[in-house]
Amino acid sequence: MKCLTCKNGEPTYGTTTFTADRDGVIVVVRHVPARICNICGEEYFDEDVSARVLQQVKEAAKAGGEVSIKEFAAA
Ligand SMILES: [Zn+2]
Repeated sequence: MKCLTCKNGEPTYGTTTFTADRDGVIVVVRHVPARICNICGEEYFDEDVSARVLQQVKEAAKAGGEVSIKEFAAA
């Protein structure tokens, strides 16, 4: 598939770091599988991956603290 943002790149599989600010907690999830555009760097997550990341963010925010750094863990 072509990148939807720059229309020229070819997103390929790799891993990325996902960050979110939820309920005052900065949550960082490392090594999240994603397709990344080789030209503009746009990231595309598969549906099951993004659902899992959001679940991890939710759990981390619930646990509290200011910053929470997680490794991506498949369900
Ligand atoms: Zn692109």
